[in-house]
Amino acid sequence: CGIVGVLGDHEAAPLLVEALKRLEYRGYDSAGIATINDMRLDRRRAVGKLVNLSDVLVHDPLPGKAGIGHTRWATHGAPNAGNAHPHRAGSVAVVHNGIIENFRELRAFLADQGIGFETDTDTETVALLANYYRDKGLSPRDAAEQTIARLEGAYALCFLFDGEDDLLIAARKGPPLAIGYGDGEMFVGSDAIALASMTNRISYLEEGDWAVVTRDGVEIRDVNGAIANRAVKAIQIDT
Ligand code: GLU
Repeated sequence: CGIVGVLGDHEAAPLLVEALKRLEYRGYDSAGIATINDMRLDRRRAVGKLVNLSDVLVHDPLPGKAGIGHTRWATHGAPNAGNAHPHRAGSVAVVHNGIIENFRELRAFLADQGIGFETDTDTETVALLANYYRDKGLSPRDAAEQTIARLEGAYALCFLFDGEDDLLIAARKGPPLAIGYGDGEMFVGSDAIALASMTNRISYLEEGDWAVVTRDGVEIRDVNGAIANRAVKAIQIDT
């Protein structure tokens, strides 16, 4: 159970896998990454150890400099490839740690809109909801904001959007989530250890924060929607 996001200057896939390796200590049953390449969203996932995901990537590479990655510890739905993250619905991909407690209500809402499900996870509802708002004409940022506002439970989330190679949206309620500051690059990670090979400049989201991340920087809002300043600290970790 770990999350990473990269808006980089280099290929994202190796950075994402490296960060996920640093999160292995938390335990996991499957893993996956998604990237934006030529403005198009695509993903790869595998059950079991990260080496299995790496094998998939050798045979079926995933280019692109923006991406998200996940190691899953299944809570809802069996640990199989279909339930592995990132979850995708239309133009939205999302990685999630935690539990969406009201996913049944959200599923019922989505079903009422004629929207079907492909997985057994609580997380898929987050992607479906965000895509529902995108289809209604909302920007990625507004779609994510509307979606996050409807979530109950515990989550660290990172969204990636088709057609957007300079945008990650992250949110935190419960599990920790860190923003990493590079040189013209930005990162999201479950902790500073995940990002240690990319940057040591870290700020932590506080409970209820959500963040719009681009290569230029980050805009963090607190639970009330007010702009929040979260201190950037230099963290020393042996790499
Ligand atoms: N509840 C989600 C799932 O089962 C996320 C689990 C996790 O934290 O890795 O897919």
